[in-house]
Amino acid sequence: MMDLQAIRSDFPILADPEYIYFDNAATSQRPRQVLEAVEQFYKTTNANPLRGLYEWSIGATEAYENAREKVAAFIGAKGPTEIVFTRNATESINLVAYSWGLANVQEGDEIVVSVMEHHSNILPWQMVCKKTGAKLIFLECDKFGKIPEQEYTDKIGPKTKLVAITMVSNVFGIQNPIADIAKLAHANGALLMVDGAQAAPHTKVDVKALGADFFAFSGHKMLAPFGIGGLYAREELLDKMPPFLTGGEMIEYVTRQDATYAELPHKFEAGTVNAAGAVGLAAAIDYLNEIGFDFIEEQEKKITRILYEGMKDQKYITLFGSENPDEHSGIVTFNIEGCHPHDVSSVLDSEKVCVRAGHHCAQPLLQHLGVNATARASVYFYNTEQEAERFLESLSHVRSWLGYAD
Ligand code: PLP
Repeated sequence: MMDLQAIRSDFPILADPEYIYFDNAATSQRPRQVLEAVEQFYKTTNANPLRGLYEWSIGATEAYENAREKVAAFIGAKGPTEIVFTRNATESINLVAYSWGLANVQEGDEIVVSVMEHHSNILPWQMVCKKTGAKLIFLECDKFGKIPEQEYTDKIGPKTKLVAITMVSNVFGIQNPIADIAKLAHANGALLMVDGAQAAPHTKVDVKALGADFFAFSGHKMLAPFGIGGLYAREELLDKMPPFLTGGEMIEYVTRQDATYAELPHKFEAGTVNAAGAVGLAAAIDYLNEIGFDFIEEQEKKITRILYEGMKDQKYITLFGSENPDEHSGIVTFNIEGCHPHDVSSVLDSEKVCVRAGHHCAQPLLQHLGVNATARASVYFYNTEQEAERFLESLSHVRSWLGYAD
């Protein structure tokens, strides 16, 4: 049995009990184990990795490559050659779009995305379609956030070159049936790009079992520092893909007019890499492994149920997504009648409650739902039942703060 107070005491920023941090889908908080790993790296091992032939640089290279092995094991990749470090999920998806997409997609092809994608998993494919003449096709979802099976079977077909879909929606929290989509995509000769930004922090990911060809994630949503993320891609694919960015360290040999490229995965990591970030990510993975996804999922469900049950019958509150709180991955998106979500967030902020308000970088989804903005509370395993209760109490003050009589 995990001791939640002991867990919370690992997070320096959570020491002030006045604050309730319910914006974890935007970015998580960091435990001291991660902060200390980064500090320790800079204090004892810092040098430019992959370049120097002296002890510190070799140490930095080892720390960086050990982190890659840890990431590979964490998401079930075959090995470190299938992991490219990037800044975040956005960069990972752009890497696939610019490298694989521009080399393989042609006029007449179709790229299938869903209407619930974060802009990070729409704009790169818009770019590929504009440059190649391919068509961007959208899978629609119902008001509970579910994509009906018929949408997949109707829209994924022989023209499909790629299906690019989120594993967990950052608005509904719903988990899409990735393994089934993978089978359908592969049966049609298409590849599957999974946006794992909201999945990797909350549930055990096994890219091979999912059947993902590409899987993108951001470290900062799973306890790691800003500026480090990753892309998993099957080695056979990476091998054939041209580099995305070019420059130092991604080369084998350079002449005046030409160059050959480094082995995988370094071919995709141009310039000085974020070794301290990778070290922080490795410490974050150790931390998550120690806590365990059984606890993480149970705790998130417990808090989400309190939030959902406390909001669902409130006269002025509209909830988005599944009616089963266990299908929300810790995300509760809502509106309060007559109150702009920005005002809702500001009122909550006056009571030291942090939530997100706006379009959540998912404007096509909000257009589909017929709203301009929503508020969103998103929890992580370190949030408590007391915080959920206090959040509900603060929420009950919003309308009166904004001048309504009831
Ligand atoms: N995909 C999803 C589902 C997200 O929720 C986010 C961020 O909120 C992203 C992609 C982009 O993540 P980043 O900004 O870290 O690249």
